[in-house]
Amino acid sequence: MILQIFHDRRSLTDVAALKAALEDCYSAFGLQVQERGFLYVPVPGSEANAAILLKYLERAAGKDKALWLVDRDLHYPGIGPVFGCSAGHAAILCADPDKEVLEKEGMHEVGHLLGLEHCRNSCVMSHSDSKEKAVGKPAHLCANCIARLHRARHRQLIYFTITTLL
Ligand SMILES: [Zn+2]
Ligand SMILES: [Zn+2]
Repeated sequence: MILQIFHDRRSLTDVAALKAALEDCYSAFGLQVQERGFLYVPVPGSEANAAILLKYLERAAGKDKALWLVDRDLHYPGIGPVFGCSAGHAAILCADPDKEVLEKEGMHEVGHLLGLEHCRNSCVMSHSDSKEKAVGKPAHLCANCIARLHRARHRQLIYFTITTLL
């Protein structure tokens, strides 16, 4: 399973750190992270409609999962300001200069892409609607979320074995 990371104007150093954090968290579940470089944001201004960007990213990324670091304030219609969001196999993340927040929210959005939901434990999948909450949560998954990903991976491997045998 491949995750492509795109960025807009962020430095490659940040992307490399995020890639390393995502690999630490998810490579045990079969995720391979690839840097895909610059993807142009097709809307003007310092704010962007996250729903429009998600649709754009889904088209740009093809069938692989994708995460896009966007140096804009993101708004989701009907919800308001968001730090990141995901739909289908695409996720967008506000390119926060705070490395710790960026890595945790990156792990959080990729967790959604892998099928995880919000979690009430001390866990990177707990929902953070403020920067304080993002700073306060741990940079790792709880045991429940890890078990869910292992079960999902196991099902996927069985499916793969069956489809290659057929
Ligand atoms: Zn979430
Ligand atoms: Zn959890």
